[in-house]
Amino acid sequence: MLNQRMVGLGTQRSGIRELFEYGKKKAAEIGAENVFDFSIGNPSVPAPPSVNETAIRILNEMDPIQLHGYTSAQGDPVARKMIADSLNRRFGMNFTGDNLYMTYGAAAALCCCFNGLANPGDEFIVFAPYFPEYQVFIEGAGAKMKLIPADTEAFQINFEAFEAAINEHTKGVLVNSPNNPSGAVYSESTIRKMAEILEAKSAEYGEPIYLIADEPYREIAFEGVDIPYLPKFYNNTLVCYSWSKSLSLPGERMGYVVVPDEVDDHELVYAAIAGAGRTLGYVCAPGLFQRVCAANADETSDISVYETNRNLLTKSLREMGYSVVEPGGTFYIFPQTIIPDDIAFCKRAQFDYNLLIVPGTGFGCPGHARISFCVPTERVERSLDLFDKLAKSYR
Ligand code: PLP
Repeated sequence: MLNQRMVGLGTQRSGIRELFEYGKKKAAEIGAENVFDFSIGNPSVPAPPSVNETAIRILNEMDPIQLHGYTSAQGDPVARKMIADSLNRRFGMNFTGDNLYMTYGAAAALCCCFNGLANPGDEFIVFAPYFPEYQVFIEGAGAKMKLIPADTEAFQINFEAFEAAINEHTKGVLVNSPNNPSGAVYSESTIRKMAEILEAKSAEYGEPIYLIADEPYREIAFEGVDIPYLPKFYNNTLVCYSWSKSLSLPGERMGYVVVPDEVDDHELVYAAIAGAGRTLGYVCAPGLFQRVCAANADETSDISVYETNRNLLTKSLREMGYSVVEPGGTFYIFPQTIIPDDIAFCKRAQFDYNLLIVPGTGFGCPGHARISFCVPTERVERSLDLFDKLAKSYR
């Protein structure tokens, strides 16, 4: 008998993928210009030119055996040092290459953390709204996801529910700021308060509660928005990062986990991450792109179109009567749906207006819908009338 859980996961497509596939089919029928696909979070701006330039230079100049060979299981030491240096320059940290474990995007980085940390029966706290794959990753590590309902006023943290959810089984807390799907950025005061609670609860239960920061959108932050670097606020923090969004390289599958020296027993924790990488087969991340990303660790794609789209959508949706928390980063906006039933709302958007938006229910936050605005501004502009008609259709 096969592992039925795996069969289920491999058979069901996520709602987002489903919508994306529908969009492609519909575009073939009625023309791509008539379908407004805001379903998926695929960056719409190219990687900076320096990415391809570095790749070409490395391909031309590096010894071919080394170029295409395995790196160390935890990643190429030169690349790890270059990335650590970049983090130190930008965030005032003291990392060395030994604090980094290179892996296949943020997804693999998270799986290494959950598998490395969890024992059977352990729990990880997740705040709604959340990236739905978290549940798959956490349960795949034999642990349980404990969901904290959203603070829909500002998409910060519902502290009362958070504190009540922590118990002796809590192994870690996962935070994602800037957030998919809300675009919200946790303020410094939110982070300080969370760190205080985690310190107190770790002391109460006599075991560290790890903070896992999922940060693929760190660099996609809009003017005036500061994104605090979490290891500065809480010692037992592991950072999961990827260049999927910041350098528009989701297909290259490149990211890392940082285990700072300040983490309790950091060498053992690093060993557990590496052991999880070994168990999952996430060893020796792709060599070429380890080196390319390391050389471009200070770079970000030109994200100005995301900011233009964020401004346009926030203003226009509010004028149409949608209630919206303005995103501080990412390329997502998460307005309230005009009716409480977000699934019915998104179906009407899809079938009556060719607007492909994702119900908040799948992100643990009903009554909302995610609009991925990583598309040309012209497409956002042409969609506005449809969002308006959609809202009016309920009045
Ligand atoms: N975490 C969040 C919040 C995401 O939105 C995504 C991808 O969309 C990931 C993790 C996975 O990123 P990666 O492509 O780097 O594995």
